[in-house]
Amino acid sequence: MKTSFFSLTYSDLNKLLSENKLSNSGATRLFNWHYKRKEQTPLTEEIALKTKELIYQNFDFSLPEIIEAHQSADTTVKFLMKLHDGKTIESVLIPFHGKYALCLSSQVGCAMKCQFCYTGTQGLKRHLKAEEIVGQFLQAWHWVQKHRPDGDKILNLVFMGQGEPLHNFDEVKRAIEILVDQHGASLGTQRITVSTAGYLPGLKRWVSEMPRVNLALSLHSSFSAKRDELIPLNKSYPLPEILDLIKTIPLQRKQFITFEYLLLKDFNDGIEDAQGLVEVLRDQQAIINLIPFNPFPGAKYEKPEPSKVQSFLRVLEEARYPAFIRTTKGDEILAACGQLNTAQ
Ligand code: SF4
Repeated sequence: MKTSFFSLTYSDLNKLLSENKLSNSGATRLFNWHYKRKEQTPLTEEIALKTKELIYQNFDFSLPEIIEAHQSADTTVKFLMKLHDGKTIESVLIPFHGKYALCLSSQVGCAMKCQFCYTGTQGLKRHLKAEEIVGQFLQAWHWVQKHRPDGDKILNLVFMGQGEPLHNFDEVKRAIEILVDQHGASLGTQRITVSTAGYLPGLKRWVSEMPRVNLALSLHSSFSAKRDELIPLNKSYPLPEILDLIKTIPLQRKQFITFEYLLLKDFNDGIEDAQGLVEVLRDQQAIINLIPFNPFPGAKYEKPEPSKVQSFLRVLEEARYPAFIRTTKGDEILAACGQLNTAQ
């Protein structure tokens, strides 16, 4: 099987051309053509014939195929994409202040078995390759161009789809390096957020290896018994260790760590839960996102009462944390957080 062109970083491509005694300008032209202009046909601009032959005869340019695009009334779109081996994943286009955020999957299924998550019910099938992550972005971009050519753009990427991104650290990192490269798609690091359930080995690598993208931690409870129940990973990598490690991550000016808190009716939505959250985040550069739970078929938790969501928020605001209630988008098509489940 040929190597995918979309698995190569700019420096990989430069190295390849140098090894073949070809000019580096070819790498710039190829990245510009396929990522900045997002052309899907071979480069027609001036490029050495030998470079063209090397790339187009030896590399594969196929991308995941969009086989379904479910659109909800709020303009959220859930894509079902088929991979080369027939497995399927989902990516979700979320309207966001006149633009879009794209929620990417990093694995087929997930090994983490979080109890509130539809994906977690099916186990890990396999990791995605960098080209399959990059491919979700390119395919969603083409879909937007074709179906919503009214100027809306995909501005933000969030790794919050299927999978624990830090469990697939190498490929997620490689995909990010490709997408932020200034010769290509040139997405700003501040526009990319990677969400983790608290996979400590990946977080340890993050400190020194990951480009300076944003980190979000799914926290969901400050109490270990409750967090153990919701996120079994917490038994191996307890929250205090995770929070200590997160404090060592270098942040840019005005960069924050986002803490996601899923509110589950009568489980973690009480005042004492909010006070616990205030306590554990005391020394963090934190933004808190409160997410009222979206039930899925067979879910054992329920949506919280709106009044309890407001009381929870008030405790955080009184403690002077920037806290927001994340409005649920796409829940009618099961595209909201924790609702993705297609892995075959
Ligand atoms: S919430 Fe994320 S880490 Fe947990 S099972 Fe679902 S996809 Fe995996």
